[in-house]
Amino acid sequence: MPRIGGHRARKLKQQVLVEENYICHLCKKPGADSVDHLIPIEFRPDLEFVRDNLRAVHHNAWPRCNRKRGSKPIPATTTLHTSRVW
Ligand SMILES: [Zn+2]
Repeated sequence: MPRIGGHRARKLKQQVLVEENYICHLCKKPGADSVDHLIPIEFRPDLEFVRDNLRAVHHNAWPRCNRKRGSKPIPATTTLHTSRVW
């Protein structure tokens, strides 16, 4: 079965970048070119398209914060606002 992805993902990514003014959530500097999942989809694939799990990040753009981070868990200081009860 084909995945619902592609277009929806690109649209959401663009929305995140615009809403966060292209400011990378890891280094707080502008120029973010992609989005990062606060909770890696490896652990929570259901959060892949959840806006609150997405943050603007430098991915291909220097200093490539997203690549440095890898898929390590998020820092405890980061707050995640979801309506979901954990
Ligand atoms: Zn950055």
